[in-house]
Amino acid sequence: METRVFTCIRCPMGCELTATINDNGVITVKGNACIRGEQYARKELTSPLRVLTTTVRVIGGTQAMVPVRTKGDIPKEKIMDGIRQLKQIQVKAPIQIGEVIVENLVNTGIAVIATKTVQKRA
Ligand code: SF4
Repeated sequence: METRVFTCIRCPMGCELTATINDNGVITVKGNACIRGEQYARKELTSPLRVLTTTVRVIGGTQAMVPVRTKGDIPKEKIMDGIRQLKQIQVKAPIQIGEVIVENLVNTGIAVIATKTVQKRA
């Protein structure tokens, strides 16, 4: 049996959740004020997901870095691999907000997009 306590991040109420998985794999959740908390706790125990936000180097831009994020959630255990992949990348200015920087980050099927426009240096 394993018990974990964490804060639900699905809304600003931030309910404290206690999730227990017994030896047969049955999960019980307490402390949630709504069904979304239970769903979040189950996901956290079985396959936690996160949006990755970081920055990527820019060549010839008015800024040296452009902020980026994954277009959706990726498995939490892939976050560090994703950061390593993005550290290797340089993109040429200009870059438009929403532009795809990487199509398939560390084989998750999830794209990485720019979250800010960077103009070309004059
Ligand atoms: S359990 Fe429901 S009410 Fe509580 S923080 Fe999560 S989403 Fe919000």
